[in-house]
Amino acid sequence: MTIGSAGRILAVTTALCVLSSTVAQGAELRIDNVTIVSPEQSAPRRNATVHIKHERIVSITDGKAAKAASTTTVIDGAGLYLSPGLIDSHVHLTGVPGMFPEHVQAHPQIAATAEKQIPRSFLYFGFTGLLDLLSTPEEMRHWQKHELRPDTYFCGSTPVQDGYPMTWTPKPQRYEHQPYMIIQRGDEAAAPSGFDPAKHTPTAVVARIKADGASCVKTFFEPGFGLQKNLLPTPRPDTLQELISAAHAAGLPVFMHANSLVAQEAAVNAGVDVIAHGLWHADDGADPNPVLDRIVKANIGWQPTIQVLYGELDVFDPGYLADSRLSRVLPKSLIDWYRTTEGQAYRDHIAAAQFSGEKDPEAALNKARAFYASYLARNRNATGYLAARNARFLFGTDTPSSPTYANPPGLNGWIEMQRQVEAGLTPAQIFKAATLSNAAALGLEREVGSVQAGRIANLLLLRKNPAETVDAYDEIVTVILRGRVIDRAELAANR
Ligand SMILES: [Zn+2]
Repeated sequence: MTIGSAGRILAVTTALCVLSSTVAQGAELRIDNVTIVSPEQSAPRRNATVHIKHERIVSITDGKAAKAASTTTVIDGAGLYLSPGLIDSHVHLTGVPGMFPEHVQAHPQIAATAEKQIPRSFLYFGFTGLLDLLSTPEEMRHWQKHELRPDTYFCGSTPVQDGYPMTWTPKPQRYEHQPYMIIQRGDEAAAPSGFDPAKHTPTAVVARIKADGASCVKTFFEPGFGLQKNLLPTPRPDTLQELISAAHAAGLPVFMHANSLVAQEAAVNAGVDVIAHGLWHADDGADPNPVLDRIVKANIGWQPTIQVLYGELDVFDPGYLADSRLSRVLPKSLIDWYRTTEGQAYRDHIAAAQFSGEKDPEAALNKARAFYASYLARNRNATGYLAARNARFLFGTDTPSSPTYANPPGLNGWIEMQRQVEAGLTPAQIFKAATLSNAAALGLEREVGSVQAGRIANLLLLRKNPAETVDAYDEIVTVILRGRVIDRAELAANR
């Protein structure tokens, strides 16, 4: 999804109720009497004192702390848990979910208010790190202008010519802004005008991605679904081999969009690092377990992304926009707009494409439930199968996966966790997937993802233990972002 819009960012002042004074970035901070829950530890570390300076944890000591210097801000962590901030390794940060460019143009104030809230909503549910799997340096620069936002990384996305996802855009517009498009060997004669095939080999594209400062390479194995079913070109084995070799030589992991059994098998055969979706599609009667066993054996990172299809289903639920949790992460003006005819554009699009334009709300909801049931069940089963075998899960939500309003920033991650528990993952598996495993997938495990001396101070203070219950993520008291202390309530929309 690439929906551009110009957002105006206002300076953000943060009121603090935990502290009596504002803690500036880089100042000294100490958290006393706290219970540390960190994914590399087998048990919580009680009664610890955590010293933070210049955005980082400098040391952790046990027992009662000495009197702090007057310049140090002290938080009493008694009765609280301290965990690393969460990382969502599959988000899309461009634009406002559910708003097409013409909507942004027609309602600039609604869009600007929403853009300002989105990074805060991720922080509200504990996400201090985000990986945008489809971005560019320009889009990242726009996002980085937010004064208060999670640390953000991006992947360079490498569709093959006329493959997913560029096929959503008609020719020739689809070739605009495609610096990382791959022209496969043998297809050079069909290259679009203005494209030099030599500059669009996997090796040349990876070099550009690396130079642009990306953290990973994203590839797509999507033969097509819906109206495009089995009509789209996919990367051939020689393309994938060259792409993965070049990426690994540049120190970049390769994420693959793959949500069918055929695609996940191609991912295993090619040796990608991460499969960026759960398993929705398989030929009737096909047994997915042999491919899932190979995913476990090869230690490939796997993102269940269970909420993606719920995000398509939920737009048919007439009560969805009345869910009071939405008002904590979305501005009221945006929720009101979603109720309008314009705001229902994506719902109407799916209804037209899948349910013959069914107009009756209840009939549409029933048709949608019946339509998505088998995909949801297949993914739930695959997730449970991999959870029982302790596969390498990476927490990624694909927020938002489409122009839907039903993958709301931050909240979508928390709901995804509840879906993952339903599917068989333990809170401890989810906690590790969203912290250390995601950090390690990007080679950042010495920077973030655990509570240890030397790590960046992206931390959460919570009333419950996140390794024991995912309810803990709605019991966050304080978000600490690079040493800066933020009261959670101040991050909510419609305060
Ligand atoms: Zn995605």
